[in-house]
Amino acid sequence: MRKALQTVKFKEMENKTFVVIQVIERLCEFCEKPLRREEKEVRTIQISGHDDYENLLVKARAHDRVEVDIEENRIYLYDHDYPGDVHPSCVEKYGEKVNG
Ligand SMILES: [Zn+2]
Repeated sequence: MRKALQTVKFKEMENKTFVVIQVIERLCEFCEKPLRREEKEVRTIQISGHDDYENLLVKARAHDRVEVDIEENRIYLYDHDYPGDVHPSCVEKYGEKVNG
């Protein structure tokens, strides 16, 4: 189960190694919901002391949101991007308004 990093306590992460996964969510320019997600493993980190945990919290601020899967030992860093693309259904819904 994935939980927001801010709700995960140091004790839950202590002495574990996590795979860090970067998740880029490409958002529709009309509805701002994801068109697609791209995930890739970027590194592994070990939380051996409280400093490692604090560092993770600081780094998390650079991302849209960060989630932790305690059972799977994974950390997900979410970032948004607008590829200049939209859902076909959104073009039907909003496209006509834009065009007048
Ligand atoms: Zn859309």
